[in-house]
Amino acid sequence: MMRIKKVLLFCLFSAACCCKAQEYEYNYSFFSNSAMSDDYFFSATDNELSMIFNRNFRLLLNKKISHTPGNALQLSYINAKGGKWKAAVYYQQKRGMDHFKKANFLSFWVYNATADSTIKDLPLVQLMKSDSSLTETVRVSVTEVNNWKQVILPASSFKGLDINNPAGIIGVVFSQQHDRNSKKQTIYIDDIEFIPEKTAAKIITTPALIKTAGYAMHIDITWQLPSDKNIRLVKIYRSLDGTNFIPVGIQQPYINRYADFTGETNRKYYYRISYLNSNYEESAFSPVTESSTRQMTDDELMTMVQEASFRYYWEGAEPKSGLAKENISGRHNMIATGASGFGIMALLVGTEKKFISRTDVVNRFTTIVNFLEKAQTFHGAFPHFINATNGKVEPFFGDNDNGADLVETSFLMQGLLAAREYFSGNDQQEKLIREKITTIWKRIEWDWFKQTPDSKFLYWHWSPDKAWIINHTLIGWNETMITYLLAIASPTHGVPASMYYSGWANQDATGQNYRSAWGQTKDGSMYTNGNTYGGVKLDVGVSNGGPLFFTHYSYMGYDPHLITDIYTNYFRNNQRIAKINYNYCVQNPKKYRGYGKDCWGLTASDGPFDYSADEPNEKQDHGKIAPTGAISSFPYMPEEAMAALKNYYFNDGSFLWGEYGFRDAFDLTNNWCSEIYMGLNQAPMTVMIENYRNGFIWKLFGSNTDVKSGMDKLQQETDKMRNNRVRQ
Ligand code: CA
Repeated sequence: MMRIKKVLLFCLFSAACCCKAQEYEYNYSFFSNSAMSDDYFFSATDNELSMIFNRNFRLLLNKKISHTPGNALQLSYINAKGGKWKAAVYYQQKRGMDHFKKANFLSFWVYNATADSTIKDLPLVQLMKSDSSLTETVRVSVTEVNNWKQVILPASSFKGLDINNPAGIIGVVFSQQHDRNSKKQTIYIDDIEFIPEKTAAKIITTPALIKTAGYAMHIDITWQLPSDKNIRLVKIYRSLDGTNFIPVGIQQPYINRYADFTGETNRKYYYRISYLNSNYEESAFSPVTESSTRQMTDDELMTMVQEASFRYYWEGAEPKSGLAKENISGRHNMIATGASGFGIMALLVGTEKKFISRTDVVNRFTTIVNFLEKAQTFHGAFPHFINATNGKVEPFFGDNDNGADLVETSFLMQGLLAAREYFSGNDQQEKLIREKITTIWKRIEWDWFKQTPDSKFLYWHWSPDKAWIINHTLIGWNETMITYLLAIASPTHGVPASMYYSGWANQDATGQNYRSAWGQTKDGSMYTNGNTYGGVKLDVGVSNGGPLFFTHYSYMGYDPHLITDIYTNYFRNNQRIAKINYNYCVQNPKKYRGYGKDCWGLTASDGPFDYSADEPNEKQDHGKIAPTGAISSFPYMPEEAMAALKNYYFNDGSFLWGEYGFRDAFDLTNNWCSEIYMGLNQAPMTVMIENYRNGFIWKLFGSNTDVKSGMDKLQQETDKMRNNRVRQ
């Protein structure tokens, strides 16, 4: 429910969004490539007496003929007399991709594959506005056949278009041009986007290829991050013999890594790259390097997933703060507080696994703590999002969310307290890291977030000018147990351990109403549940347990084996929640494609229609699977998690595996795969795999004195409650 609420806020925000300075400006692109093959999810066709060839009413894709690898849209059509086929290509909204270059021109590339010279006129072009109305049609024509040709249309030819805010345009519509019978024609269209200028400067930089590394079925290619601002894309070429290269992919210029999923093990490949400007003119090639794919053991595969996800927080970090972004691609200058806490734990795992040197990570943590020490806080608590350029709150979820977010602060603190224990060295730098973390920890006024001194509850947000306007009570069971545990553990602004029972596990009307409102059921509305779902008894949890991130976010630092209250033990309870989720996906009552023993784990993630927190019930199951669901559940269901990991990599890797590991989510029923990685979803995989192996972060975090004394206080409270129960 928590995450769903945020989705709503996000939607309101994006509708009202305007472009602010300082953020990275994206080209407003309607189509470049589709991760999935066969048909393009973000398209629609309408035959209207004529014929536009389609699959499930969507446009076809072609991977053999493309302007940018790996595919282009295929428009095969028959113009019938009196008919009017139409094909729409929709803009794919991505969280935080909300600052754009000016839309002075609409540009796309056309490959006319019809050898008949009488057929030189192309479909008409229109733009679709956010109210679904269409601009007037614009006529285009390309006489050349069997070659890629750029079409550049001035935005002014589409009447009523606001070039300062392309976000008002939700699609490009192609339609039948003339009213006479004709034969089947095929054209390919690729790289449909708004561009600010008609021409671009030539790229004179020659790319330096740094290295390639082989894994079971993919090769990682890395290069030096280019500084030339005229570079629009990086193009990656593969060869089997070192001579004949074929283009296999493109990469954004702010990412210096590409994962080429070849689908074959024990094979040698050669690579080179080039840079493209915004006219797709190519630079010279880099030198060639080579690598081979190789057999990997299960343990090596787990480490491979850990390392790839870790890189989101290492090389994908916001550079000024060293902290995590909300999602990639997304905002460049915005730090996500909770995701940063998760990332911090992933960096510690990465150091321990020797993905990076201790010296490098000490330097990174120096940057992190220096930034956080000076960043804006509210009664010591951090906002959900921080603007990295000035360290101030970024109200990304709306104006009411312009102050403290106590839950995000808890996630951050979870990571920082683990780091405080990890950097135990006696040198000045490690000492300083420890001291600054202690300062940050001690100044958080957990008790302020009670709203009133006699409150039973903690509250999620506080705004400096609107106080408790969001007024979101923290009530379990969900991902916020950690907030109560840390508030109890605070040595400076702690709350009584009794609040665990009065607030988090509240059983009066407030708690019951809260739970039944978001669970849409009475199951678990008393905090305890007691029902059996598919043969698995659930002690605590709303509905039949909720999304899997509930079992991850609070328990990356806190070892759930060690948390036992009067109702249950949370390792056991989390394990049962995972089991219920697994059983549901295997049973697959909604008959979604792909679900099964090696494809399971409903949780919060990006989706084809929206970000949502999916749960194992028919109302909350939307057919999308996030790899983090099963893989971050390694401690609870190791064999089933491993089966999912292998399936996602070996069978779905061609679309699902990328530079930071698994992309956020996919939906085989809709033939959709997310193009982003999310800060809240990558790190839990890295951390929970290691917790499963050896309890690394659990032990580290649990060795903190304040954490330990907080747990003791809770234990005393639990003993007291138990005795009272016995007396009653
Ligand atoms: Ca393409």
